[in-house]
Amino acid sequence: YRVKRAGGGHAAFQRQEDQRTTLQVERLTALHRALEQDELRLYFQPIVQAGSQAVVAHEALLRWIRPSGIVSPLDFIPLAETSGLIVPIGRWVLRQAVNAVKTGQLQKVSVNISALEIRQLDFMEHLRWILMESSVEPQRVLLELTESSLLEPRFAAVLKEINALGVQTALDDFGNGYSSLAALTNLPVQVVKIDRSFTAPIGVDTPAGKRALEVVRGIVTLVSALGLPTVAEGIETPEQADLLLKVGCTYFQGYLFGRPEPLS
Ligand code: C2E
Ligand code: MG
Ligand code: MG
Ligand code: MG
Repeated sequence: YRVKRAGGGHAAFQRQEDQRTTLQVERLTALHRALEQDELRLYFQPIVQAGSQAVVAHEALLRWIRPSGIVSPLDFIPLAETSGLIVPIGRWVLRQAVNAVKTGQLQKVSVNISALEIRQLDFMEHLRWILMESSVEPQRVLLELTESSLLEPRFAAVLKEINALGVQTALDDFGNGYSSLAALTNLPVQVVKIDRSFTAPIGVDTPAGKRALEVVRGIVTLVSALGLPTVAEGIETPEQADLLLKVGCTYFQGYLFGRPEPLS
C-alpha cells in the first residue's frame, strides 16, 4: 500500500478490510468445496410429544465436517445466504432429509429453509420433484421458516402452495424478533416453534425465570387460540419440561430428549 504517512490510519483500515475480504473469499471457496467434496452432514434431533415424550419427528441440522473440527451452521449459514450458496446447499439438505424418511430411518423430518431458498422461482418445482422422486408422503415432511423475508404477500402464496402439496410449515424461532406476531397473522403455518431464548431462563428461581414462564404461557395461549400446536425449543432440564407441560406446550425439543446426531 502506497499511502502517505499522514494517511496511515486509513491505510491500516484499508488493509484490515482487504484481509477481511480475503478471509471471506477463502471461506466461501472452502464452503463450495465442502458441498462438492461431501463435507456436509445432516444431524437429526428428536422432537417429542410433551406428555408422553414419544418421538414424533426429527429436525435436520446441518454440520460442516472439516479436518479441523465440526463447524456449526451459525458460523457458515450466513455466508451461504449472502453468497447464494444456500440454494444448492438447501437442495442437498432437503434431498438428504427426505431420503432419511424414504429409507425408513425417520418417521417424519423437519427441515430448515432459508428465505433465499423459498424466494427461488423454482422452489416449488424442486420440492415437488424431491417428493415425487422419493415417493415419500408429503405429510412426513415439515418445512421450518423464520419470518425474516416472509412477510411479503407473495410468500404467503408460496406457503399455501407448500401446504396444498400436503407439506406442513412451521414458524421457527417464534418471538425472537425475526419471527413475530405479524407473521402469525399473515402466514399459513401449522406449527409454531418457540425460540430457545424464552425457554432457557425457565426453571430457575429468578425474576427472569418467572417472567419467561409467563411469556411462554402467553405465547401458548395465543398460538392455541389459533388452533396451532407449539414446539418448545432448547429444553435441557426436567424442571423446564415440567413447567412447560403445565403451560400447555404441545411438543418439546432439546438436549434433555436428545442432541442432534448423525444417523448411524
Ligand atoms: P434452529 O432451526 O432454531 O435449530 C435449533 C438449534 O438449537 C440447533 O442449533 C440445535 O442444535 C440447538 N439446540 C437444540 N436443543 C438445544 C438445547 O437443549 N440447548 C441448546 N443450547 N441448543 C439446542 P444448530 O444445529 O447450531 O443450528 C443453528 C441454526 O442454524 C438453526 O436454528 C437454523 O436456523 C440454522 N440451520 C441449521 N441447519 C440448517 C439447514 O439445513 N438449512 C438452513 N437454512 N438453516 C439451518
Ligand atoms: Mg429450526
Ligand atoms: Mg428454531
Ligand atoms: Mg433457533
